[in-house]
Amino acid sequence: MQEGHVWVYRSDIVSADGVAPGTAVGVADERGKFLGTALYSSASQIAIRMISPRTVDDLPNLLRERIQAAISYRERVVRDTDAYRVVFSEGDFLPGLIVDRYNDLLSLQVLTQAMDAEPVREVVVSELRQRLKPSSITERVDPRIRELEQLPARPSGQLLGERTSTVFSMNGIRFHYEAMEGQKTGAFLDQRENYAAAARYAHGEALDVFCYQGGFALHLAQCCSKVTGVDSSRPALEIADRNATLNGRDIEWLEANAFDLLRDYADAGRRYDTVVLDPPAFAKNKSNLETALRGYKELNLRTLKMLRPGGILVSCCCSYHVSPAQYLDVLRVSAQDVHRNLRIVENRGQAKDHPILLNVPETAYLKCVIAFVNN
Ligand code: SAH
Repeated sequence: MQEGHVWVYRSDIVSADGVAPGTAVGVADERGKFLGTALYSSASQIAIRMISPRTVDDLPNLLRERIQAAISYRERVVRDTDAYRVVFSEGDFLPGLIVDRYNDLLSLQVLTQAMDAEPVREVVVSELRQRLKPSSITERVDPRIRELEQLPARPSGQLLGERTSTVFSMNGIRFHYEAMEGQKTGAFLDQRENYAAAARYAHGEALDVFCYQGGFALHLAQCCSKVTGVDSSRPALEIADRNATLNGRDIEWLEANAFDLLRDYADAGRRYDTVVLDPPAFAKNKSNLETALRGYKELNLRTLKMLRPGGILVSCCCSYHVSPAQYLDVLRVSAQDVHRNLRIVENRGQAKDHPILLNVPETAYLKCVIAFVNN
């Protein structure tokens, strides 16, 4: 186990004889010294995820306490929204469980055998119901994860209540929400604080590249003269357009491949005052890091060509495998290549409802750099 980390890989397990899949187990080192209690997976490369340095006699009670603590933490750090992550897996000492709140709806994701166990599900749903009084709880299933965990296939669906759509708000802007549609559990809640930060500097003509349902674009529309959002997903753009109407904003939406569009626009000499780049994770693992870095560089380079002097670049990267230092280096090299000077005004990460545990570096994944183009 890496110093202080809560994961132990299968290759490091000496013996797991007789341990049932998805159960809580006591863990000891090779010499027999007790290390604590973990949740076991018989399938994942991450064989155990520590949940306590002590013996856990009453797992349901521990889960209830952790959910309560996660909710209390949000009461302290979350502002100006009724949509936020309520439980962030390891970040809330509940490995394998994600819960997002969208106004009166909760959306839940189970990522491990242990969190999939029926008694665990019952405790989680009952605690969430009691504490947050949602009108419904939807489970979003990622079939790939169930396969990796060797769990039987299961459809997405309602765990509580009937309602599957609502309107939520963040930073005073309203968004449509459909519990059974969209990516992740529906929205990119981790960018919520970055939306507000971007709006502090954005001005003039703005381009939101990889706009999805318009998170950045709608915020930019408050302070920019013209906003264009670009995404390759038509369903995402349809919701983006409904969101613009809901907020009384006029935003242009373009369905396009961002790489092609940026190349064409840069070649055609188009100019912008504000550009947001928020691509999907290009580096899904360490092995394609180089290709990913090239992708990030291409996007930033083309964007920098188009920004007017005094312009604002909001450049995001959600690949955990790209470190903050590596990403800044991508920006430095891109700027150098096109002879621009970048001044960083904010070097940001994910919103506070996605807590970062220092001893679990994987919990820190989002980078959001806001910079002025000087010349
Ligand atoms: N900025 C968004 C989140 C972006 S997620 C927000 O704050 O809500 C990444 C988006 O990139 C997705 O909507 C996906 O449809 C889009 N996408 C992926 N590959 C693309 C490509 N090559 N060109 C344009 N959009 C792409």
